Amino acid sequence: MRTTAVVAGGGYAGVLAANRLAAAARPGLDVVLVNPGKRFVERIRLHEYTAGTRKDPTVTFESVLHPAIRQVRDAAVRIHAADRTVQLAGGGQLPYDYLVYAVGSGAARVPEGALAIEQLEGATAARTELEALAPGEHVAVVGGGLTAIETAVEIARGYPQLRVSLHASSVPGPHLGAPARQGLERSLRRASVDLHTGTSVSAIGDVRASLDAAVVLWSAGFGVPDLAAVSGLPVDDAGRLRVDPALRVPGADRIYGAGDAAVITGSGYAYLRMSCAAAMPMGADAATNILRSLDGRPAVLHDSGFGGQCVSLGRSDGMVQFVAADDTPLRLHLHGRTAAVLKEIICRMTLRWIRSEAKRSGAYTWLKGPSTTREAAAAAMDSAART
Ligand SMILES: Cc1cc2nc3c(=O)[nH]c(=O)nc-3n(C[C@H](O)[C@H](O)[C@H](O)COP(=O)(O)OP(=O)(O)OC[C@H]3O[C@@H](n4cnc5c(N)ncnc54)[C@H](O)[C@@H]3O)c2cc1C
Repeated sequence: MRTTAVVAGGGYAGVLAANRLAAAARPGLDVVLVNPGKRFVERIRLHEYTAGTRKDPTVTFESVLHPAIRQVRDAAVRIHAADRTVQLAGGGQLPYDYLVYAVGSGAARVPEGALAIEQLEGATAARTELEALAPGEHVAVVGGGLTAIETAVEIARGYPQLRVSLHASSVPGPHLGAPARQGLERSLRRASVDLHTGTSVSAIGDVRASLDAAVVLWSAGFGVPDLAAVSGLPVDDAGRLRVDPALRVPGADRIYGAGDAAVITGSGYAYLRMSCAAAMPMGADAATNILRSLDGRPAVLHDSGFGGQCVSLGRSDGMVQFVAADDTPLRLHLHGRTAAVLKEIICRMTLRWIRSEAKRSGAYTWLKGPSTTREAAAAAMDSAART
């Protein structure tokens, strides 16, 4: 009898999961990847693409996927957990035995007059608008997180004839250590980015008028698709699919969640921010647990942590804040060209890690998370098993 594992979402988490499943070459296991776009999007490069410093932020799926994976170019619009099917926007139904929910994220609510570069379509629109601007025109980037900072500096470097401002409600990079943050502010000044901090930009009315800008890029956090919520699956307040430490949906344990669109419940995992760095290990573990379920073996509990927060500040400047496994900043931080080179190496490594998994299931490894989370997760699973 054949078994079908459907992966919904062909981003970092989904492709990693699909590769780990397919490369395991289990007899009778079919792997299907559902994704609306026809190419793999390197989201971590979308600020470069927006600013015109990168021509193409995509690669073919064929270049990153195991050849046995069947690709379905469509979007999942509803998951019917009771009869294990995924309804597609194109009208079809995909039956599954196992499902990996990895539909990622985009920009959180974007106000009138603004664009968001968190997905390829918005980045393409922003790129086109920037190309059409006359020297001296004003581009405002709203947000104080790393994506907003990277975007503002990349545009300032890519378009030195434009005026670029960054509007953050607190300080840029509030979660970084103070010395790293000061270095970041020096880099913003060197790139002539006009920094406005301490005031929230109103999202009422056309924000171009309120910021007196020709283009406004809204980069104030990620939001997730409502697929899990409309499918009646458990979600958190942000709409992320709630999964247990084995990445399974409680009560629908053939469904696994990974990446930005999923959240591991239990406070021990709160440090796992939406990131490529967290999405890939989650995708890998979701696949591992499907393989273990097929073998009748107990699931592994997810265990991943961080090593650094890497920020590109144009092509020749950067910042790396080294962090503990739970993402808290350490004293060590790097700035300048060395940091830019390190960030570029990591960006290239993400594709290499994904491709290595297509060649050998289990090839990709990652940093462990905090030991306290490991212990809390094991205790929570023990207590769930007893009740
Ligand atoms: C400019 C920028 C820079 C960044 N830099 C970094 C960085 O340096 N380091 C870092 O760790 N993170 C970074 N990130 C964040 C990182 O890109 C995301 O956290 C990461 O892409 C999440 O991976 P994912 O697989 O969960 O989702 P995604 O990469 O978003 O992939 C989700 C996929 O699912 C597809 N999909 C959506 N809805 C459906 C549906 N209904 N059915 C089927 N498929 C669907 C999407 O089309 C997409 O292909 C950056 C993000 C941006 C925008």
